Amino acid sequence: MVEEYIFPQSIEEALEILERYNGEARIIAGGTDLVLQLRRGEVKARVLVDITRIPELKGIKEEDGFIWVGATTTHQEVAESPLIQAKAGLLAKACRSVGSLQIRNVGTIGGNLVNAMPAADSAIALAALDAEVEVAGKEGIRWIPITQFHEDVGKCCVNPCLELVKGVRFRPLGENEGSSFQRLARRQALILPILNVGVVVGWEEGKFSRAAIAIGPVAPVPFRARKAEEYLKGSPVSPESIEEASRLAQEEAQPRSSLLRGSAEYRKDMVRVLVRRALMEAAKLA
Ligand SMILES: Cc1cc2nc3c(=O)[nH]c(=O)nc-3n(C[C@H](O)[C@H](O)[C@H](O)COP(=O)(O)OP(=O)(O)OC[C@H]3O[C@@H](n4cnc5c(N)ncnc54)[C@H](O)[C@@H]3O)c2cc1C
Repeated sequence: MVEEYIFPQSIEEALEILERYNGEARIIAGGTDLVLQLRRGEVKARVLVDITRIPELKGIKEEDGFIWVGATTTHQEVAESPLIQAKAGLLAKACRSVGSLQIRNVGTIGGNLVNAMPAADSAIALAALDAEVEVAGKEGIRWIPITQFHEDVGKCCVNPCLELVKGVRFRPLGENEGSSFQRLARRQALILPILNVGVVVGWEEGKFSRAAIAIGPVAPVPFRARKAEEYLKGSPVSPESIEEASRLAQEEAQPRSSLLRGSAEYRKDMVRVLVRRALMEAAKLA
C-alpha cells in the first residue's frame, strides 16, 4: 500500500527522501508503467517520490556538442521538439509512436529507460544514437553508456529506490548523416511493438563511415547488431551492401515467440525487412 506521495523540489531533496526511507520509497514520473506494476503487486513501495516538479530534470538543450534531454521530458515534448526533429529525427519518430497522445503527454524518457523493456521505443532510438545516461546519486553524477545501462528484461543498473536518472545526452547528427526509426505493431494497439528498429548512418566518398543499428525486442535488452554495423562501415553506399547488412542483422537477432506479438520466426523474418527499410531511408537522408 502506498501511504505517502511526496513532491520534492530539487534533486538533492529527492535523494534525501529516498535515503531516509531506506528502500521503501521509489521514484515515480508519469506513472504509466509504475502504477500498473503497483496495482499488480509486481512492485512494492510505501512512499512515492514524484520528480515531475523538479525543474532541473526537464527540457531539451544543445550544449558543448551534445543534445541533452531531461529525464522527465515527456514523449510528446520530445516528438514536437524542432531541435530533435532536425538533429535526431529517429528519436522524434520513436517518441511519436509511443502509445496514445494521453500516454505520450505523461510518459517520460527517464521512465522508459528505467522500466527497461527491450523494445521500449525511445530506448531503441537512444541506443542507435550511442546515448549516455546521466545518473544522480548520493555520490554525485555518473554517466553510463546506454549499451551498459540495461541488464535484463525489466532490469537496469539504476535503482529507483536509491538514485535517479537526471537526463540523457548524445551527439546531434551532422553533415552526411541520416537516421530512421521503423516500427511494426498491431493496428490500433497502444502498447509495445512487435518489432522496432532505429538506425543512424553516415557516409564519406561513397562509403558508409558510421553505422548503428538498434533492434527490439530480439534480446533481453535493446540490441545492437554489431556484425551488420561492422560490415557496413567502409562498404559502398549501395542497395547490395544494405541487403547484406540486413541479412547479417537478421542472423544476429534472437527474438522470442509471443502469443500477443508474433512468433520468433515471423519476427526474425521481419528484422531483415525493417532493417533494410531503415537503412535505405537513413542513407537517403544522409
Ligand atoms: C496504454 C499504454 C501504452 C504504452 N505504449 C508504449 C509504447 O508504445 N512504447 C513504449 O516504449 N512504451 C509504452 N508504454 C510504457 C510507458 O508509457 C513508457 O515506458 C513510459 O515512458 C514510462 O514513463 P513514466 O514516466 O510513465 O514512468 P513511470 O511509470 O513513472 O516509472 C517507470 C519506472 O521507472 C522508474 N523511474 C521513472 N523515472 C525515473 C527517473 N528519472 N529515475 C529513476 N527511476 C525512474 C520508476 O520508479 C519505475 O520503476 C505504454 C504504457 C501504457 C500504459
